[in-house]
Amino acid sequence: MATTATPNTIAIHGRSYVLAWVGANAAHLVAEAAAGDEARAIIGHAGAEPNPAYDVDDVTAASWSARTLCGRDDWFMCPTEAGRAFVSMWNGREDAVLAPSCKRCLAILDKQFAAPDPAERLGWNVIRAMEQLGEWGCVHVLGVPADQAELLRKRLRAEARQRGWKFQSRVGDGQLIATSENALSAERRELVMAESMRRIQVVNSGAQLGEPAWRFPWS
Ligand SMILES: [Zn+2]
Repeated sequence: MATTATPNTIAIHGRSYVLAWVGANAAHLVAEAAAGDEARAIIGHAGAEPNPAYDVDDVTAASWSARTLCGRDDWFMCPTEAGRAFVSMWNGREDAVLAPSCKRCLAILDKQFAAPDPAERLGWNVIRAMEQLGEWGCVHVLGVPADQAELLRKRLRAEARQRGWKFQSRVGDGQLIATSENALSAERRELVMAESMRRIQVVNSGAQLGEPAWRFPWS
């Protein structure tokens, strides 16, 4: 018996999408249906006979969005090497479709992944971080939500540039660490050095050291 073909799905950023035609011009993307949303199977037409090359469960499970990302309904799966999802005179005569090509679907996909919504706390944390960067030349934000880390870094970099400050940063493990080597005036730099020395002495004397102002939690 021939091996079972895999339906024409691709994974993008950890989510699965069906490559789909509406007509046969552009290959659209159909996302997995979210819980509670209207869902349909890859074979969406009553009476269509499943292509035996595919596992019948794969093509009849109602786990896909009723519409393409760009909002078209009545989609059907683009062919793979094994053909369309249902028995068709075209099976074996069409090239496999390997990638999405609908510009609107791709634009929507970009938006979904490139720009998470800024959290309510973002603006406040930017203000606070810039204050600390200006006073201490460094800042360390703890507990940054994963989807906000790059946004926070981007906003801080933009703010630093506006002020003519150099900016270096690192994000990961829910933390953002940023430094600027020229944010401090000469007088301020002396104060910061003095404060660093004081903190080292406190540690050396075995006393408890309070959290510095430049290290603070996201919320
Ligand atoms: Zn589309």
